[in-house]
Amino acid sequence: MKVLLVEDDVRIAEDIRIALEGAGYVVDVARDGEEAWFQGDVEDYDAAILDLGLPKLDGIAVLKRWRESGRTMPVLILTARGSWGERVEGIDAGADDYLPKPFQMPELLARLRAIVRRSVGQASSVISVGSVSLDTRKMTVEVAGKDAKLTAQEYRLLAYLMHHAGRVIPATELIDHLYSGDAERAENSIEVLVGRVRRKLGVKLINTRRGFGYLVEGEHA
Ligand code: CA
Repeated sequence: MKVLLVEDDVRIAEDIRIALEGAGYVVDVARDGEEAWFQGDVEDYDAAILDLGLPKLDGIAVLKRWRESGRTMPVLILTARGSWGERVEGIDAGADDYLPKPFQMPELLARLRAIVRRSVGQASSVISVGSVSLDTRKMTVEVAGKDAKLTAQEYRLLAYLMHHAGRVIPATELIDHLYSGDAERAENSIEVLVGRVRRKLGVKLINTRRGFGYLVEGEHA
């Protein structure tokens, strides 16, 4: 899962980035409203965390522009404490949830997990397909109750496929969501990664659709 973090306060941004990466997300950071608007418009993110008080272009304006140009990724806004007007404005502009500052990191992570899940139609924090269960809180994968011991990168791949069960995911989309903007992007690295996850799971879960991509069967579109 790839998240765009928009925060001009360097210290807060760094704290959040570290927490997000620790929770298995790939993170791009934007420091002002114009950069945020551009990044959110050209890159494909699974969610955005958007501070509202930003230089150059405020967060509400950024959010409105994203929504006007058809960007549908779930957005968690960071608001000033006690500012209910900001919250209302943010939700009206298309935010999916809000978190007043200051906040505890576990709450930010929980709200982020929830908006990502809702955006793909998953109600529970544990996603199960057949004998495979992915726990998005503990970042673990079990096969028939046994820990599959995936690495962070292997977990990210499987989490993306299982969040989007029922849809064929092209390798290019996986690259976009598993690596940050400046990382090496090679399609065969996805093939290798899929192979490793398949071996560790030991059950048939990830199907290859030649020429199209990868599919985990499931009811969610
Ligand atoms: Ca700010």
